[in-house]
Amino acid sequence: MSKIFSVPRGTTDILPAEAPTWRLMEAIAHKILAIYGYQEIRTPFFEETALFARSLGETSDVVQKQMLNLEKEGLSLRPEGTASIVRSYIENNIDKQQPLAKLYYVGAMFRGERPQKGRLRQFHQIGVEAIGPNSSTPFLDAEVIALSVHLLEAFGLSGFKLKINSLGSSEDKKAFSGFLREKLQKHLSALCEDCQQRFERNVFRILDCKNPACRDIVKKLDIGDSHLGSSSREYFTKVKDTLKTLGVFYEVSPYLVRGLDYYTHTVFEISHEGLGSQDALGAGGRYSNLVKDLNGPPVDAIGFALGLERIILAKGQTAEVNFVDVFLVALGEAASQKLFLLLNDIRHAGISAEMSYQSNSIKNQMRLADKSKARFVLILGENELKENVVMLKNMQSGEQEKVSYDTIKEVLKKRL
Ligand code: AMP
Repeated sequence: MSKIFSVPRGTTDILPAEAPTWRLMEAIAHKILAIYGYQEIRTPFFEETALFARSLGETSDVVQKQMLNLEKEGLSLRPEGTASIVRSYIENNIDKQQPLAKLYYVGAMFRGERPQKGRLRQFHQIGVEAIGPNSSTPFLDAEVIALSVHLLEAFGLSGFKLKINSLGSSEDKKAFSGFLREKLQKHLSALCEDCQQRFERNVFRILDCKNPACRDIVKKLDIGDSHLGSSSREYFTKVKDTLKTLGVFYEVSPYLVRGLDYYTHTVFEISHEGLGSQDALGAGGRYSNLVKDLNGPPVDAIGFALGLERIILAKGQTAEVNFVDVFLVALGEAASQKLFLLLNDIRHAGISAEMSYQSNSIKNQMRLADKSKARFVLILGENELKENVVMLKNMQSGEQEKVSYDTIKEVLKKRL
């Protein structure tokens, strides 16, 4: 029996009625990212699995549970953008070309998740990475965070919340992990199964576990910023002060740790309460060691990624579908022949145009013109053919005018 195929679970079609919202958001992103000096980079949809394991950490949830592997080749579909961009930065010696590389990407990411609202197996991100020896400055941390807020505002979103934190340097992170283990040791048996494993492998992840029992324990931990050394603390103070001067509102959350190994110092996350349990619109942070760890130059970096599906969920579809400018109606075979050529001509002149392709009745063709929401209908019947004119009807006002066939393109350009 033949079946009707469905879109794979956890993926979606972006249908014609939705595509204009996507295009508009992408256009806004390209414009704003250029204003901030970012250049687009496009990397493959898959990479060596080992790249993600090395970058995100063997013990991260993404690598442990969420990667979609192409088993035979040792490749995985990219679950995020940073690892690929850093791989490309190193491979193409971008550090030799630009002291501070400001790169951005727009595209699909893949994670083997259990699908639910706001959590897909194929989703889309807009992300930036600022990489270079001169990138370790609180100005850049603040600018990158402000840029993520600027993008969300430009997409027409409000009511989102920005949380920031500092994980400190690698040494501070080690101290932080020791502190957490010491505090959590006595609660170990009360933690969920996942967190019991995280205790051994990646203790930070316990802080953002959603399990109520783990949350209760975590809430009572009294995590301050005592794990931060004095220079990390000073750096974070400067980031916060700069954000204030830029007028960016934030909340400091000591519980914000991010699940990936590569983060150090500033981390941030933006959430929207209208989204339910999957409420993160985007997140990012500084990664001081990743480039070096992947055998690149000893340069620092900071970046973020915003999830486009969740942004659209939070704000709704907003852009109007673009309909055609002109619908061509032909009466009879000879008129059809002539209008088919005119259709091609008009399109080459940059005007969107459609026709029915079949010489059916005028009533039928006018119905199609209505459906296409065309602003003008251009009619060619036997009389018009003889006179070398066309009838141009303004569909809004209902007005009709006779226009010489030879000047139709110019007239349309003026009217549209
Ligand atoms: P992450 O690297 O997991 O922090 O992802 C950054 C952003 O991408 C999140 O804040 C979400 O907006 C989006 N995102 C991540 N995973 C998914 C997913 N499975 N489905 C839809 N959006 C996602």
